Amino acid sequence: MSHSTTPTYFPMHVGGEDRASASGRTYLSLNPFTGEAWAEVPDGNAEDVDAAVAAARLALQGEWGMLTPTRRGVLLRRLGELIARDSAYLAELETRDNGKLLREMLGQMASLPDWYAYFGGLADKLTGDVIATDKPNFHVYTRHEPVGVVAAITPWNSPLMLLTWKLAPALAAGCTMVIKPSDHTPVSTIALARLVDEAGFPPGVVNVVTGWGPETGKALSSHPGVDRVAFTGSTEVGRLIAHAAADNLTRSSLELGGKSAQLVFADADLDAAANGIVGGVFAATGQTCMAGSRVLVHADVAEELTAKVVDRARRIRLGDPMLAETEMGPVANQRQYDTVTQHFAWAVEDGATVAYGGRADPQLGGLFVQPTVLTDATLQMRSVSQEIFGPVVAITAFDDEDEAVAIANGTEFGLAGSVWTSDIRRAHRVAAALRCGTVWINAYRVVAPQVPFGGVGLSGWGRENGAAAIADYTETKAVWVELSGATRDPFVLG
Ligand code: NAD
Repeated sequence: MSHSTTPTYFPMHVGGEDRASASGRTYLSLNPFTGEAWAEVPDGNAEDVDAAVAAARLALQGEWGMLTPTRRGVLLRRLGELIARDSAYLAELETRDNGKLLREMLGQMASLPDWYAYFGGLADKLTGDVIATDKPNFHVYTRHEPVGVVAAITPWNSPLMLLTWKLAPALAAGCTMVIKPSDHTPVSTIALARLVDEAGFPPGVVNVVTGWGPETGKALSSHPGVDRVAFTGSTEVGRLIAHAAADNLTRSSLELGGKSAQLVFADADLDAAANGIVGGVFAATGQTCMAGSRVLVHADVAEELTAKVVDRARRIRLGDPMLAETEMGPVANQRQYDTVTQHFAWAVEDGATVAYGGRADPQLGGLFVQPTVLTDATLQMRSVSQEIFGPVVAITAFDDEDEAVAIANGTEFGLAGSVWTSDIRRAHRVAAALRCGTVWINAYRVVAPQVPFGGVGLSGWGRENGAAAIADYTETKAVWVELSGATRDPFVLG
């Protein structure tokens, strides 16, 4: 990889071949730490999307469509092995594009082969059922057929991980895919498509079109040749995707934003809770959908917990995301920086107390902001009701469990939450009462291929991961076989 200031060119990948954009235009991808344009990618348009969807359709009808589920599983596992082989390279591409810690991206790359192994293993376990009916003259069974061409539209914060949550089950089910990675982080997805070829998948099974959301993303999500849309991104764009898909009645899954609450009870291990809170909201500079950006703490321990979180926030090492000792890198792009700094101003305007941070980082400049702890937070404040996608935690004290649950559920988002307590009854009671897709008890920010992930309300539709995810990329067909040869009354429903 070039370390000079000359950007490296990464072409799109369509039908197993490199492709420039139909218009010939390109755009530059910026490294948020150095501010340098380090990569150049094609600026795809509707014509490129047409070509990619056609390639994906062709692949579905060709060799890939004939492959046995077991062979699909073998290819998936081989892809996982190639990702493991190239994990350092892929992680570096992601850090250059999004500014997240190299060690976080290395950790994600190290986990991806497990996703391909898990869904590869499920590929030939997806069997239909023989159904016992009240129609004795019929043998009835179901087939789970691939839904077809899947469009994946992905965000910048964890490009390959969030793509894998779609790609692994979709390929296991026998689908083909067209991917539109985030305009901020196109490069690692292009590199992955090359590994897909190297693993031995037929050309056109996985295609990548780079470009901007309002043009390329829109063309893909509204394309009549797409059978299923899988989106991860903001709630705002999720709505646009849902509208575009609705026009063609295309099935879609939406993994959107969050405003997740961490509930800390007086009987909790406060050191563990403070550690979970710091990891939940300052890791990845707060740029995770599952950021635990609201902390609800019992009034008796609010001061003590806040002091622990502030103390750790103060010691967070900001700096070069490539260095092993760095704990927080810059925010990923100018738009994101503007949002975070706007929230610093709004927090003060709306009456929150800034216990720590609340400013751009004065030493590092660029896109660096301080880890920020707000107290006296209420649901009416913009920094408490809106997703910031930055390193900002808002702390609110509560007096009893019912009040804590009501505040936690007092948002239209519903992605995740956590309960910190040593009371096992309370832990499960509160987990059941929280309106969200994931609850961690005495932990935060853990995911696995076997465990469903997704949200309710403004956090989205559907679940990724878990055994059911593969079924989400299939259509069920019921087959009725008449056994008796008897003539039926043609005017009566059987
Ligand atoms: P974004 O919504 O701005 O962009 C996501 C993708 O949509 C990008 O590829 C973008 O180019 C594309 N896009 C933009 N406009 C489009 C349009 N009109 N039509 C079609 N596609 C369009 O999101 P982002 O800023 O890249 O990512 C951050 C957001 O993603 C946050 O809100 C975060 O919470 C969410 N997120 C959710 C999860 C989850 O699993 N729930 C995980 C990670 C991130």
